[in-house]
This record gives sequence, C-alpha cells and structure tokens, in this order.
Amino acid sequence: MEDIIQRIQKLKKERDAVLLAHYYVNDSVQQIADYVGDSYYLSKKAAEAPQKTILFCGVKFMAESAKILNPEKTVIMADTTADCPMAHMVDEERIKQVRAQYDDVAVVCYINSTSEIKALCDVCVTSSNAEKIIRALPQKYIFFVPDQNLGRYIAKLFPEKTFIFNDGFCYVHTSITKENVERALAIHPQAKVIVHPECTMDVAEIADYVGSTSGIINYATKSDAETFIVGTEIGVLYQLKKANPNKTFYFVGNKQMCTNMKKITLEKIEQALLTMANPIEMDEDLRLAAENSLKRMHEIAK
Ligand code: SF4
Repeated sequence: MEDIIQRIQKLKKERDAVLLAHYYVNDSVQQIADYVGDSYYLSKKAAEAPQKTILFCGVKFMAESAKILNPEKTVIMADTTADCPMAHMVDEERIKQVRAQYDDVAVVCYINSTSEIKALCDVCVTSSNAEKIIRALPQKYIFFVPDQNLGRYIAKLFPEKTFIFNDGFCYVHTSITKENVERALAIHPQAKVIVHPECTMDVAEIADYVGSTSGIINYATKSDAETFIVGTEIGVLYQLKKANPNKTFYFVGNKQMCTNMKKITLEKIEQALLTMANPIEMDEDLRLAAENSLKRMHEIAK
C-alpha cells in the first residue's frame, strides 16, 4: 500500500496534477486526495486549483463540470466508466416542452446532470446551495431536473413559487426507507437522524437534519448528540469518524453504497496518471452553453 501511495504522489508531481475526491469514494482514495468534498466544494476547488491537470475521483458529471470551468486544463478520471445514473434521467425534449408551455419559467438543474442538460438550463444548483440560488430567481415557475426528491424538498421552502418536477432519482438515497429509519430509531431512540435531500420526503420529514453531505458532517460534528442514524452514501463514514472518533454512526440498510463511486481505486488512479488516457473532451459550443449555468451558480452562491 505504502508503495502505491508513494508512486501516486510522485506521478502527481510529474503531471502537475491535483487529486479531487468526492466523499462517497473508497476510504483509501479519500486518504490520498488533495481535496475531499461534495460536488459544490469540488467544483470550486477545480476552478481555483493552480495545477494544469485535474484528476477527478468521482463520477463523470463531476469531471465534466471541472472541464467546463477549466477548458485550458487536462481533466482525467480514475475510471471513465464511473457515471451517475440519475444524471441521465431527464431528456432534452422534456426541457423544451416545459419551456414552450410556461413563459415565466426557470429551468434549474442539479449539478448531477450531463453537460448537454446543463447547456439547456438557466442555472445549476447543488444540495448545499439550491435554496440560496432559487431564492435569487425572479421566475414564478421552477422546472427542477433531474432529481425529483431534492426538487420536492426545496419546493417546500418556496410556497410562493410553482415547481414542476421531473421523475429522476438516486437509487442509493431512495433505498433508505422511513420504515428502516424508524426501526433503527426504536433500537437507538437517542440518535439524531441526519439525511441527504436526495432521500424521499417521508424520510426527510422524520429527520433532525436534512442537508448536503458537507452539511451532514458539520451537523454531526457540532452536535452534542453521540449517536446518529445517517441517510446518505456510506463513504461519508470515513470523514464522520475522522472528525468524530468518539461518536457512533448507524447506516440503516445494506444498499447505501454507490457502485459507480466505488469503482475508484488506488490502482486506477496510478494508471490514469501514468497513461493520461481519455481526457475529458467537449465540443466548445456545448462547453460554453453549459458554462453559463455553472458560472451563474457560482456567482449567486458566492
Ligand atoms: S450516490 Fe446517487 S446521485 Fe450520487 S453519484 Fe451515486 S447514483 Fe449518482
């Protein structure tokens, strides 16, 4: 293990590469990353990084977002097949239909979306900034894509707006059921329930805290509680335990694992840095169109 870490560090220097990792990747990858965070944090780091190569340890839409914001940099992935199924759960035709149907509509896309979808939207959001960004939009109608659960959760905060939902979902977060959480609470009644807004509304409604992965870590770290029932992907346990070694975290099902995030391994990171194969490439018109929605997000969220 030691050897491969040393080889990766050496290759990183040779390639002038920064290694960005999502909270959901394997612990061994989080341990060697330069920055670990949620989608919003990583997209900021990608834009700020002085290195000329970005090695993304996460899924494809994240690496594409890094390329959109940094066209002059080389962006590679540890595994180019790591993709988020939810990012594909809305089609361009549906967006065109909604735009034709409503005059006063903003199409808001969760950052978990393809570049083609970002190019058709007015602004991007992440789970950590969606409320702030939608508050800044003047439109009465909000078409939220692709995740219906984050959309429904945010819509509750804006009774004055009319939301139109799409039917996308994350299979990891929707595998967390209200019944499972209640069963865990019956065993650990003192536990705080902390969940991600990609969970279904009935789960969010019984939670003590609903927020982004960073928000979940912050809440658990600041809380006086010692036991937590966690409703998000299990990779977050690494940072939760690192920040809170004396607290206990329970995960309620056996499906809280994103198979695509778990494709990223140290061996693949080493290979990617060795070969620099399959850098993210994008048509310039597509990149510019997608950049608008990402840049708007960063401007409003500042
Ligand atoms: S956890 Fe869900 S939303 Fe995140 S990458 Fe995996 S499938 Fe996509």
